[in-house]
Amino acid sequence: MVIDKKGLMIVLSSPSGVGKTTLTKKLAENNSHFVISISYTTRKPRPNEIDGKHYHFVTSKKFNDLIKKNDFYEYAEIFDNYYGTHKKTVNELLSKKKDVLFDIDWQGTQQLSKFKELNLLKIFILPPSKEELKKRLIQRNQDKLDVVEERLKAYDADSAHKKDYDFVVINDNLENCFKEVEKIILMKKNKK
Ligand code: ADP
Ligand code: 5GP
Repeated sequence: MVIDKKGLMIVLSSPSGVGKTTLTKKLAENNSHFVISISYTTRKPRPNEIDGKHYHFVTSKKFNDLIKKNDFYEYAEIFDNYYGTHKKTVNELLSKKKDVLFDIDWQGTQQLSKFKELNLLKIFILPPSKEELKKRLIQRNQDKLDVVEERLKAYDADSAHKKDYDFVVINDNLENCFKEVEKIILMKKNKK
């Protein structure tokens, strides 16, 4: 398959709970040429999550088979679960000239960065404060408290990776953050 090398791959990373899922959804709703990459994961679905829409929820065995077949652009172990980006699906979207949004962590971003032929835009999202992040993680209210604590503990180490990204944006007011991220993406697209 011929991949449109100019197809934009927009990566949003952040410590857990900052608002990546909310932002990618809003970006895709407001721009018909943006499509969200649906990752594979061994994590169990949260109550409102739908298989094939939020993630492809798979067993560890299925995930390992995909690794062996070299079907992932990248994959990583995060909080005891595996998450990965399916290569063929992404290539198909790029060949349809879609701009693909990725809600993936810093490990996945590092792996994608090694593919020099890909046109990556890397944006790191931070919360206005750690206290606000804790509120958001609790408010999301679908993870148990020990899960919230585990994710908060990873905050400092996760945030340190912001240096590997093209832009850092603070998600304080959602609407402002969305506009800022959208502006960055459109700026990059217009430069092509
Ligand atoms: P992530 O995908 O980064 O883990 P989510 O998008 O699931 O984060 O957001 C975590 C929680 O924070 C959700 O309940 C979401 O509605 C809320 N949230 C996201 N952005 C904001 C914001 N700017 N202000 C307040 N709450 C927010
Ligand atoms: P959650 O369990 O909250 O949905 O996601 C946990 C973390 O996994 C988030 O930081 C999210 O960005 C990351 N993630 C989701 N899908 C992928 C993926 O395909 N690859 C990588 N490397 N990280 C992912």
